[in-house]
Amino acid sequence: MEFDLENLANSFVQQLVDQIFENYKNQVESNSATREDRGKFFCDLSSLLGRELVSRALHLLDEHSFTYFYLKNNPHIYAVEISKGTEYFRVIPKVNYCKCEFFQCYVLKLPRGVLYQDLPSGQAGILEDWSEESRESLTCHHVLALRFHLLLKPKGRKTSEQVLKREEIKELQREIFRD
Ligand SMILES: [Zn+2]
Repeated sequence: MEFDLENLANSFVQQLVDQIFENYKNQVESNSATREDRGKFFCDLSSLLGRELVSRALHLLDEHSFTYFYLKNNPHIYAVEISKGTEYFRVIPKVNYCKCEFFQCYVLKLPRGVLYQDLPSGQAGILEDWSEESRESLTCHHVLALRFHLLLKPKGRKTSEQVLKREEIKELQREIFRD
């Protein structure tokens, strides 16, 4: 049997990333997280996922709005929209998938040109903004930003909730995965 070393390495890194999140989450929940813990959390993640991805994800937290989609009387989060102006990306908690160009090209390694046409205009060429080292990645800044958002729970006008009907939730999730 042949081992796929790349997949093996990726799943190992993924486990480490999960562990780092878990550790910091425990510290936050027990109110024992210090400034140093927080620094170490971002530093450890940066060494695994790349500093650029982590800092861009944090930037989204500052600059973008996060809308959580729920069903009535149900605490489960079905999807989250990360938006600014007319640009938006929708992701699902605990699901490593995003329709953004970065995810399609540098995570799934799909050839450019088969990308989604329904992305907001003005997105073309953004891939060139990323440094060479970032052009192979386990996840994208949107998926990572949602993990940060769920963990750090920033309050304020940039976070909102929206209750949808069951059919609307279904359509939303279908739209996220449709290619
Ligand atoms: Zn993305």
